Amino acid sequence: MLSQGFITKNPSRPAGYFNVRKQVKNLQADYEQEWMNMISNKQADEYYMQQAIEMARKAPDFPFGAVIVRRTTGEIIAKGVNRSSENPIFHGEIDAINSCAAVNPSIDWSEFDLYTTAEPCPMCQSAIEWAGISTIYYGTSIPYLQSLGWWQIGIRAEEVSRRTPFRQSTVIAGILELECNALFEAAGTGSTRLK
Ligand SMILES: [Zn+2]
Repeated sequence: MLSQGFITKNPSRPAGYFNVRKQVKNLQADYEQEWMNMISNKQADEYYMQQAIEMARKAPDFPFGAVIVRRTTGEIIAKGVNRSSENPIFHGEIDAINSCAAVNPSIDWSEFDLYTTAEPCPMCQSAIEWAGISTIYYGTSIPYLQSLGWWQIGIRAEEVSRRTPFRQSTVIAGILELECNALFEAAGTGSTRLK
């Protein structure tokens, strides 16, 4: 009961109380802003992944879709889909990079992020590094694709990124992962699934 007595007998605030209140309030505002940013970033990431999913739906047997986004404006710069039936190296990410390069031959690629329904294979992640794209977001992981029987080279995108000393790319997993997984679960039932 000592503290209660202290409060009732000493209603005046100690020196610095209001400063502390103000600091706490500012901290709360910062946290709220950070939280709002997190929510809006999450919504943006899911929006762009949804666009990659829409691209993937154009190739239901090989639902690898990708979009390249200009980070500062949110503009979708290029889209790609797996076209390996035309050329074995035309994976979704390569298709998007080719489309982007065709329109923007001398652009600063570090302005761009890439969203792809599946984790980039080592070829695509290497192409992403050579291009200089900053952040890569994917839905389905390589191990999950392998567990479904898809052909995949067992080198993770994060490893390719880490082993590329001349870039500082970031690989972020698990954007709309269940939706992306569903694409690959539904695609084909053959024993050989090629990306
Ligand atoms: Zn690839």
